[in-house]
Amino acid sequence: MSTAAPTLSISLHPSATPVSVERRAELLLDPGFGRVFTDHMVTAQYADGGWRDAQLRPYGPLSLEPATAVMHYAQEIFEGLKAYRQPDGGTALFRPDRNAARFRYSAQRLAMAPLPEQLFLDSVRVLVEQDRAWVPTFPEGSLYLRPFMFANEQFLGVRPALQYFYGLIASPVGAYFPRGVKPVNLWLSTDRVRAVPGGTGDAKTGGNYAASLMAQAEATEAGCDQVVFVDAVERRWVEELGGMNIFFVFDDGAGGRRLATPPLTGSLLAGITRDSLLTLAADHGHPVEERPVSVEEWRGSAADGSLVEVFACGTAAVITPIGRVRSRDGEFVIADGEAGPVTMALRQALLDIQYGKAPDKHNWMHRV
Ligand SMILES: *Cc1c(COP(=O)(O)O)cnc(C)c1O
Repeated sequence: MSTAAPTLSISLHPSATPVSVERRAELLLDPGFGRVFTDHMVTAQYADGGWRDAQLRPYGPLSLEPATAVMHYAQEIFEGLKAYRQPDGGTALFRPDRNAARFRYSAQRLAMAPLPEQLFLDSVRVLVEQDRAWVPTFPEGSLYLRPFMFANEQFLGVRPALQYFYGLIASPVGAYFPRGVKPVNLWLSTDRVRAVPGGTGDAKTGGNYAASLMAQAEATEAGCDQVVFVDAVERRWVEELGGMNIFFVFDDGAGGRRLATPPLTGSLLAGITRDSLLTLAADHGHPVEERPVSVEEWRGSAADGSLVEVFACGTAAVITPIGRVRSRDGEFVIADGEAGPVTMALRQALLDIQYGKAPDKHNWMHRV
């Protein structure tokens, strides 16, 4: 870190009117996901070739002119990470350095000014310190952090913008499965794709989500919870869900389990949960491969029983078991359609690290 450029310091302008202790307690009773926001946010501006004006300030509306570039050409990126309550009452982040690096990568892919990784990390730290009282203490609650950046130059010409806005907001969230882990049903979308080779599928940008929402609406229509996308060229290779990566658990024929997850071809997002599970699965003694899995293999191995579990993973939902897959060609079930033991063991192992209940062998946790 000694070679890093001098970092921009964040000036502190805390709210004079934070939410009362009583109201906060009420909001934290059942926060749901992404509906409740804390008292503060961090913002910074990029202009004239540099980042400036980094501030912690009260959470509140932004004022934008109609000509603001992002509203026309969608130069926008975001991240998602969580602060977790620790057994001693403190808080910790899970691999925030990876989010900082991915934010930089996404910025480059969208031809935006990258945010210095140190500023990203400082912003997260400052906001969690300020709004620590908003980190839930109930089981599997957390403070979801949402860094985002967009082009805020007022200009309708088509070129990479010269001005950007960075923001960081925080939202207390409840357990993803408040009534116990329940498998979800997937809609296998073969006529709509979310990303293409050479496109922006490996950047965390709102445009990928916009591209996925029509298929998500079709999934809902078909009685499914989530979409699973295949590759855009052959429409054959499984890629990921709209916002989660996917793992397959196979019987190895000798009573063991081996895992597979699609490789990072450039059209899927390199999840930090995915990366962590590649390590954790190996720690649990399961060989794990990054390799292409076709829809035929998925359907065939589910039918012959060699595919025993499938799960999706991401920061928001941790690990979500997948019970059934539906498509225009019919439906198939994974094993008995229930959450399997490898899925549940990996889920618990990851949660135990995040909540400070298991040793952090890989130095993933950052205390705040
Ligand atoms: C954020 C995201 C994921 C999951 O990434 P994590 O770092 O594990 O939270 C997977 N797919 C898409 C498309 C995403 O945007």
